[in-house]
Amino acid sequence: MKHPKIIQSKAPGSKSVKNFKALSHKILEYSNRGDLRTDFQREISKMLLGFSGCNAVEFWLKGHGKYFRSCMTRLSGKPFLFETRPYPQNEHGEIVPQANDDQTWIYLCHTVIHGRLTPSQPLVTKNGSFWTGNTKKPFFLRLTFDKKSHVRSFTLSGDTLSLLLLPLSVGRKNIGLLVLKSKLKSYFNKKEISLYEDFSRYLEIVATHHDTQVDLRERIKELSCLYHIARLAAQPDLSMKEVLQGIVKVLPPAWLYPEIAHARILLNGDSFSTPHFQEGRDRQQADIIVNGKHRGKVEVVYSEKRSELDEGPFLQEERALLDTVAKEIANIITGRQAERDKMNLEEQVRHADRLATIGQLAAGVAHELNEPLGSILGFSQLVKKCSGLPHRAELDMEKILNASLHARDIVKKLLIFARQMPPQKMKVNLNRLVEEGLNFFKSRCAKENIELSCLLSPDLPEVDADPSQLNQVVINLIVNALQAMPHGGRLKIQTLEEENHVLLIIEDTGVGMSEEVLEKIFTPFFTTKEVGKGTGLGLPVVHGIITSHGGSIKVESKISQGTRFEIQLPWTGPNENRG
Ligand code: ADP
Ligand code: MG
Repeated sequence: MKHPKIIQSKAPGSKSVKNFKALSHKILEYSNRGDLRTDFQREISKMLLGFSGCNAVEFWLKGHGKYFRSCMTRLSGKPFLFETRPYPQNEHGEIVPQANDDQTWIYLCHTVIHGRLTPSQPLVTKNGSFWTGNTKKPFFLRLTFDKKSHVRSFTLSGDTLSLLLLPLSVGRKNIGLLVLKSKLKSYFNKKEISLYEDFSRYLEIVATHHDTQVDLRERIKELSCLYHIARLAAQPDLSMKEVLQGIVKVLPPAWLYPEIAHARILLNGDSFSTPHFQEGRDRQQADIIVNGKHRGKVEVVYSEKRSELDEGPFLQEERALLDTVAKEIANIITGRQAERDKMNLEEQVRHADRLATIGQLAAGVAHELNEPLGSILGFSQLVKKCSGLPHRAELDMEKILNASLHARDIVKKLLIFARQMPPQKMKVNLNRLVEEGLNFFKSRCAKENIELSCLLSPDLPEVDADPSQLNQVVINLIVNALQAMPHGGRLKIQTLEEENHVLLIIEDTGVGMSEEVLEKIFTPFFTTKEVGKGTGLGLPVVHGIITSHGGSIKVESKISQGTRFEIQLPWTGPNENRG
């Protein structure tokens, strides 16, 4: 800290009106800077010490429910002391006399501050200022308390001989006290005391102006902090992490001591903080609540102790600001979540739309092909029945027949996908269907080192469905799962009953799928398998069947970890045939 340079004035008792005017201008000009309270009191005291030629200047200023008392002396060691003194108030906001004002000096200061000196008695001016030219002599003062007056004697110790205590007030409210102390006897004369009193009227204005200036600056800092946060929130291309890191950066400048302020946001286990964040002693926090749930907190800490810390130890406005910031973060999270949900929904709609278009196209082609295929099949069967065909021609006819049957199979699948083959619904026991389907695969699983686990809910209600179509679903999903585990693994099949639907879950520990593959699995003819192993029609058929049954499909997959298909089929109501 830089020690103020004090210029000793010429001779005591020689201050003119002009000198006072110059000093007043100087302090007004200085107050425009809106320095922090400590700096303000130090600077004013320094000017007064130089101007008055006194040995010490004591300056009390009220703010945030207490008095800030500073003391500047000419001693080289500790020229500036700064402390806070609380004052008790009654419910009307009036300062009440304190029982522990026992130290004579503090008692005297409070007496002047609280306006308890009966004016115009010896040593007291008509404005309530106190002065003495010789403290070595005990003095008596008439005090007024609750309209009752009494006399009290004062004996001061120390090497100060001359004293001038000037109360500072705005309207009827006290805002502080200015004390000038000199080691010289009879240092202040009547004319000067009156000039100092005029000067203290000026100081009252300056102190109020300074307070406003500081408040204004703090409010501007807070507003620009909120403005920066709003700007960060409005940038959709920033990731949530970037936004939070940005917020952490704009917080410290909004606090009273930016140079020792550090901020941190803890959200869902992630931490974002300014570079040298540490758990400080003086710390403030606000919870981040999203949709009623506690998701994290935002903190500001001071890494050092400062003398001028207000209510424990942050400003009330800083408390409010931090709460607002926490709410703002919660809003950003909610907003982004809503945006994501909307995009997901849009993507789902687009996907469904694409599949529907492909379905229509496929159905059109399938219908067109159905007829010529029927002719090929019919006529080749007729030809095959003709006697006298060369053996070679008979074999070729067989190939034509097989190829046409395969083609008809594909056409049928396309029609199922496009939901052009309405399901023949009846009551179906899904458990039995799964068990029957699995029978085909048991020996293959054993051979391919695939562990099979089947958890079928014993109480599963029957569903209204086309059994042969559902059978297709089960078979297609199991085949895909087995194909995904060429080196063995675990296949888990589960049935479950939920509120108004039944679930079929088929899970494997196979190769899994990338995001790109996952996006295309329901598109007809999409396959990642080599020719002969896959047609790319298995899942489109599953999709067609489940959708025409009013159900839905959920897929989760992770590369090298496995895939989980969850089929949901509506269950319309209770029925007796469970099992
Ligand atoms: P196909 O099996 O004839 O390739 P599908 O429509 O049944 O056609 O499947 C499409 C694609 O989806 C497959 O080629 C494969 O890439 C992927 N797939 C389906 N099921 C699984 C699974 N259980 N594990 C990994 N990939 C799968
Ligand atoms: Mg398949």
